[in-house]
Amino acid sequence: MDKTNSLKSFKRAQSHIPGGVNSPVRAFKAVGGEPIFMQSAKGAYMHDIDGNKYIDLINSWGPMILGHGKVQIERAVIEAVKKSLSFGAPTNAEIEMAELIAHMMPSIEKVRMVNSGTEATMSAIRLGRGFTKRDKIIKFEGCYHGHGDSFLIAAGSGAATMGEPDSPGVTKGTAKDTITVPYNDLEKVREVVMENPDQIAAIILEPIAGNMGCVPPVSGYLQGLRTLCDEYGVVLIFDEVMTGFRISKAGAQQYYGVKPDLTTLGKIIGGGMPVGAYGGRADIMDMVSPSGPVYQAGTLSGNPVAMAAGLAMLKYLNENTEIYTRLETMTEYIVQGIKLNVLKLGLKYTVNSVGSMFSLFFTDEKVIDFEGAKKSDLNMFGKYFNAMLNKGIYLAPSQYETLFVSSAIDEIEADLIIQASYDSLKEI
Ligand code: PLP
Repeated sequence: MDKTNSLKSFKRAQSHIPGGVNSPVRAFKAVGGEPIFMQSAKGAYMHDIDGNKYIDLINSWGPMILGHGKVQIERAVIEAVKKSLSFGAPTNAEIEMAELIAHMMPSIEKVRMVNSGTEATMSAIRLGRGFTKRDKIIKFEGCYHGHGDSFLIAAGSGAATMGEPDSPGVTKGTAKDTITVPYNDLEKVREVVMENPDQIAAIILEPIAGNMGCVPPVSGYLQGLRTLCDEYGVVLIFDEVMTGFRISKAGAQQYYGVKPDLTTLGKIIGGGMPVGAYGGRADIMDMVSPSGPVYQAGTLSGNPVAMAAGLAMLKYLNENTEIYTRLETMTEYIVQGIKLNVLKLGLKYTVNSVGSMFSLFFTDEKVIDFEGAKKSDLNMFGKYFNAMLNKGIYLAPSQYETLFVSSAIDEIEADLIIQASYDSLKEI
């Protein structure tokens, strides 16, 4: 595979961009090799600047549920651009977006738009603190909630990939208010809540973890957290930046039947444009400025182009809910294919999946938390990643990231993925 142009671009990028990339995992540091620079994408495929094409299993880290270049989204964006790139004043599109989110995800009575998932989670914990008048939050090892200071403690995703789950630059003062506990261990959370009476403002988690690889909640876990939060007056925040509108029409909360107090949303509701949002119970959301005292603002929040893209995407999902069955069936087909490959080759690796998210871990043990995910052989993952890349399958360049299937992936692509996976596993 010719990578000449990508190599040239990466060299050039490093002169004026730290590490040559604008988000760390993109640098391929964890898997060896240099990043591929992209030129265009359509449907299930991305095309790089050397003319190679790849079946995309990252989908811009989640939002391209419908694949790339969906006509309805493109048209909506073009129409919006013609009217204005940004007003900095309210628009009807923002109301439409809020109404549609509240309709699709009924736990959200009121919602505030922001510009990224990081902003959404930062704002949600500030709100949780303002509402409860308490300082501490609980997060889970290996969960990633963006790069806000309070979350860069035992964080997954790029932070774990770069070996910096606790980032320099986060003050001890901030860190002391974030308590981390293992994912999927209800007893441990209960202990922490009881050891810190009247101090825990919020519990924030990915209801399906995607940032330590795909790790679904064990049976009863989310329900148990709900009960615990009710008992101790703690605000339960589901970070559905990855799972909202992907796992089901109303995200993981509908899939598992558990209602959080607040939900954070991100990239998905922008259909590929930079967007985030947080929302939930009206009595909590009414604490947000200007209706309440908890300050939060944004010059470009509710940007009309981003709203147009997100609305087109959410409307499509709302009107075509059969897509979720299709996504799940296709993912299951791929997952079963990979499991069979592993078996045929006499290997014993673990495959986790739920909805249209899945991960292959290079360990024979069950993976239900970050400790389990860390047992995966990262050297093998790096080799597998590169073998797949050379066969035209674009995986997330880190073990600590889930893969995403889009509705543009058909049986043809699924079979290519399964075959490439077999050949790659054999090769490495
Ligand atoms: N929360 C979760 C669950 C995420 O996966 C991410 C990003 O991947 C974020 C928050 C942060 O979102 P952003 O990168 O848009 O700031």
